Amino acid sequence: MKVISSVYQLTVFLANHPNRGSIGFVPTMGALHEGHFSLIKKSLNQNAISVCSIFVNPTQFNNKTDFKNYPNRLYKDIKMLREIGCDVAFTPSKEAIYPKGFTPMVFDFGSLDKVMEGESRPGHFNGVAMVVSRLFEIIKPKRAYFGEKDFQQLAIIKSLTTQKFKGIQIVPCSTFREKDGLAMSSRNLLLDERYRKAAPRIYQRLLAIKDRAKNTSVSELRTWIENIYKKDDDLVLEYFEIADAKSLKKSDLWSDFPKHVACIAVFAGTTRLIDNILLEIN
Ligand code: AMP
Repeated sequence: MKVISSVYQLTVFLANHPNRGSIGFVPTMGALHEGHFSLIKKSLNQNAISVCSIFVNPTQFNNKTDFKNYPNRLYKDIKMLREIGCDVAFTPSKEAIYPKGFTPMVFDFGSLDKVMEGESRPGHFNGVAMVVSRLFEIIKPKRAYFGEKDFQQLAIIKSLTTQKFKGIQIVPCSTFREKDGLAMSSRNLLLDERYRKAAPRIYQRLLAIKDRAKNTSVSELRTWIENIYKKDDDLVLEYFEIADAKSLKKSDLWSDFPKHVACIAVFAGTTRLIDNILLEIN
């Protein structure tokens, strides 16, 4: 596996590669886990050459402490990428991605980035779109892999691709979970024993939502989940939303859309966790 930090070196390496027309790309922020590996394995299966980037992107953090505390395990990540047979690990510096004089990009995602994560983390999706645009321009992949764990991010990336990168195929990948149901996340490393024990309740409750959705109204479900979280002393609900799985517009009635998604953000202590589940009612 090649480990490359320089944009120039990566560009030259890929431009001269005989398989440059079949590049699979997996962007990550490192502290890699089985969820990330499921994306990389899919890329390895579908492309002649697979590139995984590891870059904790400062422009997508609206909270400085969150950025500072984000887990960093570069040495271990590279070792694991080598073990699973990834072809290239791209590990750029902040200056490589955002060189001096770089003009910040501004995106328009309509209503997609006005709700849920977009509302809770102002500027977050603009930062995500900016780094993904830079990486797409540098790597020029044929396919790029994104997890459904970050459901709204996936919708944003699909919109970005339609607007700016029509030739790139976005491959959605299902959420990889721990045995107890907790969605794998680099942030799980930040949970102490008490919160790690509490965190699986997030998915258990999403499953209960899915189950109840068949005979409960949208507004009753919202109230039900809010009341459950109010009783907790370890998990704190930031938002729970039921929305159109396509446009992410808020659902009022099950008849509003053919497919709904329930999305949630919860604080387990100081660690913010997100998860979601698809609800097929009709
Ligand atoms: P991150 O390093 O958290 O930015 O994630 C990089 C990519 O991996 C994103 O497309 C995520 O949606 C995806 N990802 C993260 N966790 C999981 C998971 N548990 N299952 C599937 N994909 C995931």
